[in-house]
Amino acid sequence: MTRKDMPMLTAKNLQEFEAILGKDRVRTSKEELLSYAYDAYVEEYQPEAILFPKTADEVSQIMKVASAQRISITPRGAGSGLAGGSLAKKGGVVICLTMMNRILEVNKPNRYAVVEPGVVVSEFQKEVEKVGLFYPPDPGSATVATMGGTVQMNAGGMRGIKYGVTRDYLLGLEAVLPSGEIIQTGSQTAKDVTGYDLTRLLCGSEGTLAVVTRITVKLLPKPKARRTLQAIYNTIDQAGNTVARIVEEGIIPATLELMDKMIIKALEDYAHLGLPQDAEAVLLIEVDGDPEAVEKQAAIIAEFCRGQGARDVRVSQTEKESEQLWVARRGAFGAVARMRPTCVVEDATVPVSYLTRAIKEVITIAQRNQVQIAVLAHAGDGNLHPLVLCDLRDKEEMKRVDKAMDELVDYALSVGGVLSGEHGIGLAKAKYLSRQLTPQTLNLMRNLKNTFDPQGILNPGSFLERAS
Ligand SMILES: Cc1cc2nc3c(=O)[nH]c(=O)nc-3n(C[C@H](O)[C@H](O)[C@H](O)COP(=O)(O)OP(=O)(O)OC[C@H]3O[C@@H](n4cnc5c(N)ncnc54)[C@H](O)[C@@H]3O)c2cc1C
Repeated sequence: MTRKDMPMLTAKNLQEFEAILGKDRVRTSKEELLSYAYDAYVEEYQPEAILFPKTADEVSQIMKVASAQRISITPRGAGSGLAGGSLAKKGGVVICLTMMNRILEVNKPNRYAVVEPGVVVSEFQKEVEKVGLFYPPDPGSATVATMGGTVQMNAGGMRGIKYGVTRDYLLGLEAVLPSGEIIQTGSQTAKDVTGYDLTRLLCGSEGTLAVVTRITVKLLPKPKARRTLQAIYNTIDQAGNTVARIVEEGIIPATLELMDKMIIKALEDYAHLGLPQDAEAVLLIEVDGDPEAVEKQAAIIAEFCRGQGARDVRVSQTEKESEQLWVARRGAFGAVARMRPTCVVEDATVPVSYLTRAIKEVITIAQRNQVQIAVLAHAGDGNLHPLVLCDLRDKEEMKRVDKAMDELVDYALSVGGVLSGEHGIGLAKAKYLSRQLTPQTLNLMRNLKNTFDPQGILNPGSFLERAS
């Protein structure tokens, strides 16, 4: 990617930013520029400065300087994105929102909260749970990911099957346009159909339309009880059939996660959790809600697991046991990522009835292309996470990885699936965008981008520019 059309940052630009933020919050040391050159994707782009605003007004002033001089601005939360969205693809400035990290209001009677974008998701969840409320979006990265980052990626997570994704909890936003103007979208009410739904347009826009500076989310009452089940299988089919059986029966668990053999082995090597290394699949299932209903559902699901051939089924009896069962799933990414120098996380999503076929297809694609792929899945909503283990420095291997990804994308689309269920397009999937979206749809998206950002200064080089 070249940056020929964006000017380099000048000493005068830096002085202007320092006048807004003070020297302390304008960082240009070699070490920091290098640290901010990465997220959880595999490419590297160094910014020329990193700015840490603390208010929407500071963001607005930064944007005014940037738009007057066509400086490229890339918003960033925790940098845990898996698609390269927070990287300064054309240099310029990274605007990091982590110092805007206050929870401004938790309103119990009206069940909403207002937060700044740099609040970490799991910290927010803990705070609202203290007053008996519940914020369901639960990405695997919740202990680091920011509320702003999850809004911009429309992050999902393990509870997607029952509770949906970030979009489903968004009520309103405050955001700064590339021009520096500050806009408000949505409201604090449960219902609001006033004009276009700009809140939803900004959600999932991957930092390309505006910088989010305040977020209003709706909250639910905290479920009174939960039970976690772990079922171990000798075949992927048995695990897949269990998922199908649960879905058919109309039970909606809070989570329904699948891990394949390679993940089980990686976890055992890493954390010695006592999972059998000859098993082909593990399902982790959680039900939550009213205590009586939870007991009933857990018993029915345990029966389904056994009925489909699970060789071992454990049901948590206490909160502590539930937590212990989740240790495996939470450690899965880390355990697998240790196995090779590079781990590319895929995210294609298929209609749930194709889940087993899709997992088998991933295994066939891996064998055909001689690449190593472990499979995690948010099985209840058909969201696959094939983890491609490779070495970025090995050009021949990366060609095979590329081909495998290509085939995987084509398979998902051929059965009515999508390129990404929750990790976004970013740099990772831009080249496939036109396989899912028509030229007319892509054109409308480009026109929208142009309306928000006529100079193209916000997150330049991102998915729409890279799409073929
Ligand atoms: C181990 C691991 C597990 C993960 N599990 C999940 C999962 O289960 N589900 C899931 O959906 N994702 C998951 N992710 C991906 C990632 O954590 C999410 O995409 C998350 O939403 C990113 O949040 P962040 O704060 O790190 O954002 P960043 O990575 O910093 O930024 C993400 C995007 O948002 C933009 N952005 C950030 N803040 C703002 C703002 N205030 N205004 C405007 N634009 C902004 C950036 O420009 C970028 O395009 C996982 C990642 C890892 C490493």
